[in-house]
Amino acid sequence: MSLLEVKNCTIRYQNGTSAVNNVSFSVEKGEIVSLVGESGSGKTTMVRAILGLLPPGGKVTEGEIILDGRNLLSLSEREQEELRGKDIAMIFQDVGASMDPIKLIKSQYVEAIRTHERISREESYDKATDMLKRMHLTDANRVMASYPFELSGGMKQRVGIAMGMTAQPKLLLADEPTSALDVTIQAQVVHELRELRDKYGATIILVTHNMGVASYLSDKIGVMKTSQMVEFGTRDEIIIDPKEQYTKDLIDAVPKMGGNRFAR
Ligand code: ADP
Ligand code: MG
Repeated sequence: MSLLEVKNCTIRYQNGTSAVNNVSFSVEKGEIVSLVGESGSGKTTMVRAILGLLPPGGKVTEGEIILDGRNLLSLSEREQEELRGKDIAMIFQDVGASMDPIKLIKSQYVEAIRTHERISREESYDKATDMLKRMHLTDANRVMASYPFELSGGMKQRVGIAMGMTAQPKLLLADEPTSALDVTIQAQVVHELRELRDKYGATIILVTHNMGVASYLSDKIGVMKTSQMVEFGTRDEIIIDPKEQYTKDLIDAVPKMGGNRFAR
């Protein structure tokens, strides 16, 4: 059984147009699956539906989303809330914007841990610093004693990833987690995501418009175009032997770097 199965999923917003149209794909435990496609193709809508947090007016009108054998669409509001952060966590494009600007990282982080776990502040603090170190924020105590504005964009993004991973969710959703970062920092954060999978067995769905990032990171890639998944396959099937012209165009749009743009 796959960890996640999305079956014939259609998602509509209030105006009636389908943002996601009859999309199916699955994610195995320990895999990184990327959803790639142009802006407006339905990627964010798809992952937010998995998280159970569609924007107001959005609704899954057809299909199933099954995590570990449980149909997420039949859960109560309360059950969904329990799932979020614990079984499914999400990293947003600009983590900094979702942080409280007037609270130290340590109070935000410790609070976040304690909404899911009945452990002391001290234990929560230790858990947090341990996770920050895993994300290569070596001076974890200083990070904890900082306000968000005192950290660089790349540091904040790593704090966000660390916070998402602390509860060891079954599934981590990352929506354009590097797009707001400088190119050099992007590469580092992409590397941390890869390490999460390789070292800690995380299962990740990554949303990106960048086929280069998807190629480097993914076990499988789903290509989305105008609400549909036009192609889904292993990394090599998509990158080496794409079937759709649209996929080829996305691959061609990746700037060549050192003659080997898809090195991994
Ligand atoms: P992507 O993440 O691939 O850029 P989105 O999932 O954000 O795509 O958007 C898919 C489609 O759904 C677009 O046509 C977009 O305009 C529409 N859409 C997204 N969010 C909303 C919303 N909150 N209300 C109405 N329509 C939306
Ligand atoms: Mg999006």
